[in-house]
Amino acid sequence: MIKRVFIFAALILSASCSAYCAPNVLKNIRYHSYPNKTRIVLDAKDAITYTIEKISSKKIHIRLHNITPVNKFGKIKHFLFFPIYPRVTVNDRIVKKVKLKPAYHSIDTVFKLSARNTSYNIFYLKNPDRLVLDFIKVSNKRKIKVIVIDPGHGGFDPGAVRKYRKGVIFSSKIKEKDINLDIAKRVKKYLKGTDTRVILTRERDKFISLKHRVGLAKKYKADIFVSIHANAAWDKRMSGIETYYPRKTRDKGVSLKKESRKLAESIHESLIRHMRARDRGIKDAMFYVLRNAYMPAVLVEVGFISNYYDAKLLKKSSYRKKVAQVIAQGILEYKNEVEKQKGE
Ligand SMILES: [Zn+2]
Repeated sequence: MIKRVFIFAALILSASCSAYCAPNVLKNIRYHSYPNKTRIVLDAKDAITYTIEKISSKKIHIRLHNITPVNKFGKIKHFLFFPIYPRVTVNDRIVKKVKLKPAYHSIDTVFKLSARNTSYNIFYLKNPDRLVLDFIKVSNKRKIKVIVIDPGHGGFDPGAVRKYRKGVIFSSKIKEKDINLDIAKRVKKYLKGTDTRVILTRERDKFISLKHRVGLAKKYKADIFVSIHANAAWDKRMSGIETYYPRKTRDKGVSLKKESRKLAESIHESLIRHMRARDRGIKDAMFYVLRNAYMPAVLVEVGFISNYYDAKLLKKSSYRKKVAQVIAQGILEYKNEVEKQKGE
């Protein structure tokens, strides 16, 4: 019972205060345009309390509470019967204007935006009391900055292996893990000097779990993931290059899959154009590293170790060098394609 009385008393107090206490005063509205940001500052006599009423791509509506504007922001003129609210015209690339609708002890401020992709930041500063709103132009232009190259297998996992064959060119075993690593390192080398950062999931002959490979790409916020492998088949006649993109992706939508497919096309077409290999096509697959990647991801099978001719080529460093160069070229073509897309 006591509790209830207490709440009732508190309600009356706050109600009476908003009605009779001297409200805060909105003194001025300032703005400053920066290249990618517009700052609007609301100067007040005391601390401003506010609520965000509505946000759309074109305007943000903020209500300031228990406040009255100084005269120049408080006068509502009329044209015929339509009210013309006081406003501050900004008209830069980001903000059009700030409209003020003063009501009884509150002011509705509506920020009309010129740019669509705008994010905002509201914060409060004291001495003097002011509410600062930063409207920031968000560029949705995608850039390819971080590239993760993933040489398949490694350590105790050799991948496909071609054993020594008497009387032919092979003096030792060809292990897929070595070919993958060599090509990956060369791809990195070719991408050096471009405005990208290239990270290999392994720099040496070491076992790395698939989960760790994907995790690494996520950690470095990779923009694309390119896994390099060599094929093997029971049928020794099988040869050529094939490139995979994920059949299913993390984002459940079409974009990661679509982008992965584009990346696959770019790399694969570059390979087929420049290497005289059989075109085994661009295929979708459920490989772990593709399915679990957070970014466009592809897996390139650069040739069949189980095929005599492919293996003979892959054993040559000049061939691996060319493969790497062509993969790097495909990556750069994709990067170029992505980055020249219009941002807005
Ligand atoms: Zn493999």
